[in-house]
Amino acid sequence: MGSTERIRSVAKRVAKWARAGHRMVVVPSAMSGETNRLLALAKELAPTQSTPAQMRELDMIAATGEQVSVGLLAIALQAEGLDAVSYAGWQVPITTDSAFTKARIQSIDQRRVMADLDAGKIVIIAGFQGVDGAGNVTTLGRGGSDTSAVAVAAALKAAECLIYTDVDGVYTTDPRVVPEARRLKAISFEEMLEMASLGSKVLQIRSVEFAGKYKVPLRVLSSFAEGPGTLITYEDSAMEAPLISGIAFNRDEAKLTVRGVPDKPGIAAHILGEIGKANINVDIIVQNVGADGTTDFTFTVHRGEYQKAMGVLKQVAQALKAREVVGDDKIVKISVVGVGMRSHAGIASQMFKALADEGINIQMISTSEIKISVVVEEKYLELGVRSLHTTFGLDQPEAAA
Ligand code: ASP
Ligand code: MG
Repeated sequence: MGSTERIRSVAKRVAKWARAGHRMVVVPSAMSGETNRLLALAKELAPTQSTPAQMRELDMIAATGEQVSVGLLAIALQAEGLDAVSYAGWQVPITTDSAFTKARIQSIDQRRVMADLDAGKIVIIAGFQGVDGAGNVTTLGRGGSDTSAVAVAAALKAAECLIYTDVDGVYTTDPRVVPEARRLKAISFEEMLEMASLGSKVLQIRSVEFAGKYKVPLRVLSSFAEGPGTLITYEDSAMEAPLISGIAFNRDEAKLTVRGVPDKPGIAAHILGEIGKANINVDIIVQNVGADGTTDFTFTVHRGEYQKAMGVLKQVAQALKAREVVGDDKIVKISVVGVGMRSHAGIASQMFKALADEGINIQMISTSEIKISVVVEEKYLELGVRSLHTTFGLDQPEAAA
């Protein structure tokens, strides 16, 4: 919702459905750029906010963006001749924990909303915000209105949750890397979560977790263009799953290796324990088969935490009398994702062969039931993603459903 003109067009779309007999709840986010503008104001007054008291005020400020949106949308709907009413999160109420700037929804009281719907009103609820047990305004983290919408849909047992955003769906991979990437008609919740590195640019990933947990079918659609978008749903027979749904990648990784650690129980737990204490999340972990009583231990972390992890690991290595610590922050992770993998052997070898044919060396491998990830040198990202996209037949137009 970039302008009042856009809000008017949203209202017209909603009005069309209302006239077709749908009962609807609309969950807008702030007008584009507004949340950034509001948070920048706080920054002008104090460059950083980190105490709970400061974070509380950030939420107080940021939540106003959505409050403006809901009021404006209600006005626009009333101008269309419809009965509409808007609510801030605390008025519903949408109850959250007290983790300011990244609160989690605990419950949604659907009574007031249901009464309005029963009375023929269109209900507009502010996204991104809630209220904690002590009555403080909270927000759900950037992009959180997606999660608000799914949570409201789950609470009201809605038939479907439509998310209008600035892309027209979920793609087989990032079209900036592979121009032949195409929009998926459907993808399962699980695949969408595995595609997080791509998918999180489309939806707040927590909204997908929520939708999966409560089985709320989600559809991602463009706010600017007509089109069917992408349905994110549970796996069923109607969803003739392709072998591979997409190629995800992540440029934000770095790897660290500690060489020559004693090969005995408790070492991995000790190393990762220290990394965990420093609040660093670990992604892929590989430990070699030991030889001569020692082994090598490698793991990846977010690139932004590479130096910090290196510092911790050097201390741990010294204490363990390990031989050396080495690292590399010029790596990327590429993953093939697909529920079809469950029932098909040979996907891994096909993937590794495609990479080998391009002369790309695989440094680490990790798998889950529906995903195979490899770590490769950063310079091979585009080549690797493109060749896998072709290998798994994703360049071709999708068969008619
Ligand atoms: N306005 C909030 C943000 O910018 C929430 C959202 O857009 O989903 O993060
Ligand atoms: Mg958004």
